[in-house]
Amino acid sequence: MLIGLCGGICAGKTSIASYLIQEHQFKRIRLARPDGTPVVEKSAYNTRVPTPDPRSFDEELSFPTTDALLDFVTLRWRERWVTTDIWDEKVVDALLRRPFFLLVSVDAPVSVRWQRFMERCLKTNLNPPTLEQFVLRNDAHLYSPGTGLGALIERAQLKLLNSTTSLATLNSSLKSLDLPNGSRLRPSWDQYFMRLADLAAQRSNCMKRAVGCVIVREKRVISTGYNGTPRGMTNCNEGGCPRCNSALPGGVGLSTCLCLHAEENALLEAGRDRIGEGAILYCNTCPCLTCSVKITQVGISEVVYNQAYLVDTKTAEIFAESGVRLRQFSPPREGLVDLSTGVAGLSLDALGGAEDTYENMVDDARKFLDDESFLRPV
Ligand SMILES: [Zn+2]
Ligand SMILES: [Zn+2]
Ligand SMILES: [Zn+2]
Repeated sequence: MLIGLCGGICAGKTSIASYLIQEHQFKRIRLARPDGTPVVEKSAYNTRVPTPDPRSFDEELSFPTTDALLDFVTLRWRERWVTTDIWDEKVVDALLRRPFFLLVSVDAPVSVRWQRFMERCLKTNLNPPTLEQFVLRNDAHLYSPGTGLGALIERAQLKLLNSTTSLATLNSSLKSLDLPNGSRLRPSWDQYFMRLADLAAQRSNCMKRAVGCVIVREKRVISTGYNGTPRGMTNCNEGGCPRCNSALPGGVGLSTCLCLHAEENALLEAGRDRIGEGAILYCNTCPCLTCSVKITQVGISEVVYNQAYLVDTKTAEIFAESGVRLRQFSPPREGLVDLSTGVAGLSLDALGGAEDTYENMVDDARKFLDDESFLRPV
């Protein structure tokens, strides 16, 4: 794999590269700065002071162009490579086309980065800038129209917040983050189908809750569904279902609801014959009571859901009795990962997907007595 690190001045790109080199057998590769590098970027580069541990980069390899670098890594993509030379959009465009590349951004509060910069200046007998000078330099580096690196940071698949002043904390967070995990490059089947269910949910027109569902067999999608009013009727979000558009509390007036659930739509779309043996239903929310009996009846073998819901335990009871396997899968958390805690929020467990045990769920089901909340408010 090839990890590209981008981020502001003194955000910690080099520290993270060093960690990967020392702990995970990565090798650093360098990319020459393109001729067209804007002056402001050059000036930002020139403000760099010697890296904390230059010995870690003994084995670096340099390439004159992105293509040359990619030709090299393509033949060796199973080895581990890291670069901090993410110069501009063109470099990112070229690298992100490849399945072995992961773009990681690193950020830190500007005051923290200024402190780091001053410390490095003092160590090397350079005159440190004032905070104001540093802020102006930083703004130019990140936000100059057309050349700022801020846009690249936004494209990162993984965004890290590195505000800690302790290298030990940083390394411990990085350890729990498990950056080299291969499923960062290519989603697992669970991640893939759950993402499709999430995408379907974005088409929901129901005012109460956006739910999406995918039915698959032998890793192939049979049908998808999302919740909303039936074909030919006014969409729920355009007033089609008076119940969903009213301020009734959740679970009340369900018998007057006109919206079909995502699972119902996916089941209707597939039909019993096409579902057949061994089908798995992925849903971003745990199915409600009425959906779970329909899921059971058409012969779905396994249900995988992401978000829990009030009725999970009752649903688990139904599935337990009818022999449908129920499993929770929570995809890796997205958004900013804070490295200052020593335990980054995105662990290997999270990456593989959190899984509740079947026994726990059946146990919970037995404790579950509240009949009122069996039905998910659509
Ligand atoms: Zn609705
Ligand atoms: Zn409704
Ligand atoms: Zn339902």
